[in-house]
Amino acid sequence: MTIRFGHVIDGEERDSTNASQFESVDPWTQQIWAEVALGGADEAAQAVAAARRAFDSGPWPRMGRDERGALLHRLADLIEENADELALADSRDMGKPIADALGKDVPRSAQNFRFFADHARLSPSEAYPMDSGHHAYTRFEPAGVVAAIAPWNFPLMLETWKIAPALAWGNTVVLKPAEDTPASATLLARLALQAGLPAGVLNVVHGYGPDSAGQALTLDSRVDRITFTGESGTGRAITAAASANLTPVSLELGGKGANLVFADADLDAAVHWSIQAIFTNAGQVCLAGSRLYVERAVLEEFTTRFVRAAESLPLGAPSDPATRIGPLASEKHWRKVTGYLDVAEGRMLTGGRGKGWAVRPTVLADVPDNAPVQREEVFGPVVTITPFDTEDEAVRLANGTRYGLNAMLFTENLRRAHRVSAALRAGTVWTNCFFVRDLRAPFGGVGDSGWGREGGNFSREFFTEPKACVMDA
Ligand code: NAD
Repeated sequence: MTIRFGHVIDGEERDSTNASQFESVDPWTQQIWAEVALGGADEAAQAVAAARRAFDSGPWPRMGRDERGALLHRLADLIEENADELALADSRDMGKPIADALGKDVPRSAQNFRFFADHARLSPSEAYPMDSGHHAYTRFEPAGVVAAIAPWNFPLMLETWKIAPALAWGNTVVLKPAEDTPASATLLARLALQAGLPAGVLNVVHGYGPDSAGQALTLDSRVDRITFTGESGTGRAITAAASANLTPVSLELGGKGANLVFADADLDAAVHWSIQAIFTNAGQVCLAGSRLYVERAVLEEFTTRFVRAAESLPLGAPSDPATRIGPLASEKHWRKVTGYLDVAEGRMLTGGRGKGWAVRPTVLADVPDNAPVQREEVFGPVVTITPFDTEDEAVRLANGTRYGLNAMLFTENLRRAHRVSAALRAGTVWTNCFFVRDLRAPFGGVGDSGWGREGGNFSREFFTEPKACVMDA
């Protein structure tokens, strides 16, 4: 039996005006598990109108940060209380292992609301007593209506990363989840109403991107901010659409993360984190360490241990708590990833196609620098290993990409860690670890990996209109 998920607009769950719908396929069973309202320009316009009303005349932007924060904490409580249902929704929509959805994505989604509620409540503002006797201080006014357009790889976690700061700062939101992962967004909007968020404050409209609900949101002049996470090419299309109304856009885009293992590294830690960096979420991670560069002196030992660890990762049904690698998110995505494998140059040390839409952890060696699998974002469990001889060469290889989301390095040499971190062209550099996040720190990318930063004060800058108030007093 399939489950139905509607849009959530102006405080009620609805079907599309013309009753259109689409289906969500569980990529492990390859069976339809959910039917979802399919929105287009009409539904996007209804959602923006609701968000506009809630912003222009509703209580949300006018209530204090304490009151808003209390409601967002209540929503976080409800996310925790409904963790099983939320985790299952993401797991069935895109094949994420249930252990990851329950252990990481859902708790982090609740934490997003708690963190940004508290951040807004405790956030100081600058005040400048001027030599002239004037005083200048900064107010952070909510920006207005925020359109949040999300990808499918960490559905609930990335949606809440956008929604939480937008709401905490008094904006109203229209969320367009990815068409492959609609379910948890409707569940979240239901919980928001249950938590007491007023009608129209958090709206969800389902649909596709081009010529559909996504594009309509980016063209709507009543939208004050667009926050987007997804592919770099989509980021370009959204920026072009937004330019008609000069709508500010925040872009968190693709990546091709380099992972540098120096000969002086703690190899146990380097193997452990490098495995996490590429095979978590079956490699469908913008931050994936998909280009491994290993200093020649430890190449053989590292590679042997890395391949052994890759082969020991349990691949199977996402519903099995022991599973670490599930199928890829959809047939379309599986075709894309296996397409890279079919033409891959070099040697495949392990991996290849798995059962159904799964791809086994795949390690490639001797891949030419200009090969597509080395240059493009594969977004699957596929890593290349390339040797280097000097620190300068390692940095040059790591920086030899149009992407610049993140990089990792493994070394026990503190001076080298600082030096290389400074030289890498990336929004985040992790030394001797991976995916460790402080939500106050900037998150975003360089080059094709994005525009702007989110997190802590960076989210505040984007989701507010900072206003200088100057007084002759
Ligand atoms: P995608 O760009 O195909 O789709 C993302 C969203 O944009 C979907 O909701 C889609 O419907 C919508 N969309 C597509 N075209 C649109 C248009 N013209 N106008 C408006 N909306 C449109 O990306 P995806 O395949 O869902 O996600 C994978 C990509 O996301 C990868 O490139 C990955 O690296 C990136 N990503 C980046 C980060 C980050 O934080 N930098 C995080 C996760 C994923």
